[in-house]
Amino acid sequence: MSSLKVCTKCGGEKPLTEFKPRKDNPSGYRTTCKRCDYDARIDWYSRTIEVRRAKQVVYDATAYRNHRDVILERSRNYSRSHKDQHAARTREWNSRNPDKLAAANLRNRDRQYEWRRTHPDVYAAHGAKRKAAQLNATPPWIDQNHFDTIAEIYKTAKVLTDFYGEQFDVDHIEPLRGKTSCGLHVWWNLAVIPHSDNVKKSNKLILNKN
Ligand SMILES: [Zn+2]
Repeated sequence: MSSLKVCTKCGGEKPLTEFKPRKDNPSGYRTTCKRCDYDARIDWYSRTIEVRRAKQVVYDATAYRNHRDVILERSRNYSRSHKDQHAARTREWNSRNPDKLAAANLRNRDRQYEWRRTHPDVYAAHGAKRKAAQLNATPPWIDQNHFDTIAEIYKTAKVLTDFYGEQFDVDHIEPLRGKTSCGLHVWWNLAVIPHSDNVKKSNKLILNKN
């Protein structure tokens, strides 16, 4: 059969249909077979994937820096106009992948725990803010500056805790849920005290109630 050709790479004798056409070769075909071309391509992809990925990351970061506002605006617009679609797709994916969803929830929970462990002061400050809001103990004139000051007090408690190796809490001098009055979540109603004192204080309050 005249239509057989030997591949210069694997040495296999194969029909011409197993070779890609190449006009500038005398035979009109590539010297290597399709199978070898394919293997070479896969080989190149896997050998260079790290480099290409790194280049892509650099490119993405640069592009993002250069067009930050445009990209953010576009993504905001997109989220707004596809909100329902996105929610539906998420619901659909969740119902099809209960195992993956459960695993993702676990991972998120672990991450949250880890964050709380490494940022106890920020976590405590957020919690206090939320609780104060529920109890209407946050005056309307409290601004971000004031919350920053409160955050500093929670940070102080963490610094003292780390320094003495003993738990320090931020205490509301006038309790938020007082018997006769409601203390405010404002910096001048906050005090950093050892946890042991805080426990004594709440015990006393409970005793007083009885
Ligand atoms: Zn070959």
